[in-house]
Amino acid sequence: MSFQVFGLPVSRGIAIGRAVLVSSSRVDVDHYFVAEAEVEIARLRESRDVVAAELSCLQRDLPADAPSELSALLDVHLMLLHDDALIVATEQWIRERHYNAEWALSAQLEVLARQFDEMEDDYLRERKADVEQVVERMLRAMARGASPVIADSEDSPRVLAADAEPLVLVANDIAPADMLHFKRSVFTGFVTDVGGKTSHTAIVARSLDIPAVVGAREGSRVIRQDDLLVIDGDAGLVIVNPSDIVLEEYRFRQRQGELEREKLTRLRHTPAVTMDGERIELLANIELPADAKAAVACGAVGVGLFRTEFLFMNRAGELPTEDEQFEAYRAVVVAMSGSPVTIRTVDIGADKPLDRMTAGELRHEHGLNPALGLRAIRWSLSEPAMFRQQVRAILRASAFGRVRLLIPMLTHVSEAAQVIEAIERAKQQLVDAGRPFGAIELGAMVEVPAAALVLPSFLRLFDFVSIGTNDLIQYTLALDRGDESVAHLYDPWHPAILMLVEGVIRQARAAGKAVSVCGEMAGDPAFTELLISMGLRSFSMHPSQIASIKQNVLRTDSRRLAPLVRTVFGSEDVWAGCEELRDAVGAGGTMKA
Ligand code: PEP
Ligand code: MG
Repeated sequence: MSFQVFGLPVSRGIAIGRAVLVSSSRVDVDHYFVAEAEVEIARLRESRDVVAAELSCLQRDLPADAPSELSALLDVHLMLLHDDALIVATEQWIRERHYNAEWALSAQLEVLARQFDEMEDDYLRERKADVEQVVERMLRAMARGASPVIADSEDSPRVLAADAEPLVLVANDIAPADMLHFKRSVFTGFVTDVGGKTSHTAIVARSLDIPAVVGAREGSRVIRQDDLLVIDGDAGLVIVNPSDIVLEEYRFRQRQGELEREKLTRLRHTPAVTMDGERIELLANIELPADAKAAVACGAVGVGLFRTEFLFMNRAGELPTEDEQFEAYRAVVVAMSGSPVTIRTVDIGADKPLDRMTAGELRHEHGLNPALGLRAIRWSLSEPAMFRQQVRAILRASAFGRVRLLIPMLTHVSEAAQVIEAIERAKQQLVDAGRPFGAIELGAMVEVPAAALVLPSFLRLFDFVSIGTNDLIQYTLALDRGDESVAHLYDPWHPAILMLVEGVIRQARAAGKAVSVCGEMAGDPAFTELLISMGLRSFSMHPSQIASIKQNVLRTDSRRLAPLVRTVFGSEDVWAGCEELRDAVGAGGTMKA
């Protein structure tokens, strides 16, 4: 049966493929194709044997006074472990689909979980938890044991079956850090039930440059394993089991899109200069050191935002050392060969918490309203030793190129003062240790309305500012950027937002300070002309967006809208003026819900 699921567009383009349903707790297992099924089956069986031995040991060592239910439970787990519905069926996934063992096991768990959910009998339905526990143990055994069977290359996705049918991933939710696992995965599209357009999950999905839809609400419940899906990343639409005619139409659009992208790649070496000769700096947002390569390949003239918090995630309790961080930052600085690299200190908190084990060691509680809690610079200032460690690592990387240090979520000038003091101490520590470092520029993210409203106080203390429109919108319009139920209110065209952005650009320029936009607005073609007309000359975005923004830059005359911009932001009725501006840029408004 064909039907449609509506969500929010995240990443442009069309993906067509078979649905792979992954439960949220299992998205972090590796997903790749294997050449030799038998080797993978051996890994699966080995994990079964290891778990069987573990369970038998547990049973043997049960104290005499242990409740008899405990022993019975271990019996059930042992029985499940040897059940054909688990092992034989998983082996089939490996043989027929060439999935790696972890993926095959998770896929079979998904099938079994659905069968259990549909059972009438309460007792039987509850056995689902037992299967999950057994699978969890097997996955852990595999993680501890045999290494992956195929060679892992930094550059290429782990795909061996060239003729394999494209696959798209469907999940209830994927944490931003888990989304990173898919940077080199076999999936050609994503659908998640939850998330807003600028949630960090969506941002990472966008950086993967494959079509994705978030906020599809019931998507993972109504879509079945192996359903054929069309993901329309422009419209935020998922078509399940499309008719032949619809499928043909989307295949055509997919080919057109590919041709268009190919054309755009030819702009790679073209300088981004407006029709009236204004040079525009197009920088890249990156999450991992390996992304620097894509930034260069897409023609970025530097890194405008390195979201370093991803180095701190999925670490199972262990945070990166100063040396490890230094190596990561240096790798980016070296890859950018002299172009500026803007390294943001960690933005931990909100929808990017540390994993529970690490957070537990640091005794940080996940607050009731994490977006308003201990996040970003607040978090860093509450862990001064860790903050200084990160600053030292960044400073050390500055000996290898041009580094700019960026501080997220500043709200109080006193925070800025503490930051400056911490940097001075970190420098002194490096001097004492005889470690070299270069000159760095210090920047403030303007992403809290309070900072935008008292900007001159911050401008005095910083060399540059970078506007984080994602959070600026979240905090100005009082809505959670990750909550799909208020996604329709997430409006970058709201006059309050445009006023703040225009004000920051104008004041920074007047003070002779560099200003950039690194939120999603910078990569949205609907805003290119408007931001240039406001005086912006530096944009930072996902590498994949650079070509289409450059195309817009080349078609823009910065003088066309400048007078209207001046009138609108000096007028009484800004609301009407912003509508006029919106009409003037002819914005379809890809970000408008
Ligand atoms: C922003 O808030 O616009 C920004 C760039 O930071 P992040 O998306 O990482 O919160
Ligand atoms: Mg932000």
